[in-house]
Amino acid sequence: MSSDCLFCAIVAGDVPSTKLYDDEFTYAFADTNPQAPVHALVVPREHFTDIADLGRDGSAAGRLLAGIRGFAAQEGLTDFRTVFNTGAGVGQSVFHVHAHVLAGRPMGWPPG
Ligand code: AMP
Ligand code: ZN
Repeated sequence: MSSDCLFCAIVAGDVPSTKLYDDEFTYAFADTNPQAPVHALVVPREHFTDIADLGRDGSAAGRLLAGIRGFAAQEGLTDFRTVFNTGAGVGQSVFHVHAHVLAGRPMGWPPG
């Protein structure tokens, strides 16, 4: 746990969240500013800053992907978008790696 990290506090239960899925390594909760009918944030319980930091640990990276898979399977999602923002310059605002999992509306490609 990193002190001063919002998503560590959410994983610990010190800040409330709407739980959508969890497993031994992963916690998923509803984004408070949803951009689609389904908008989950899937995070590792362990603190990593961003996906580049997470990529230093292939096992942890795989466990996060398994959590995304588990959430999608639970919800019966076959079509969903997964976004990792890395760095403030592209919109990362919480520096605990998180996958945005978005679904439930048409989404163009490339994104705007
Ligand atoms: P990013 O901008 O990629 O770092 O994504 C951070 C996301 O966290 C944003 O989509 C916010 O809406 C969301 N968010 C911020 N605070 C909370 C919170 N307390 N509970 C749930 N989602 C949050
Ligand atoms: Zn954290």
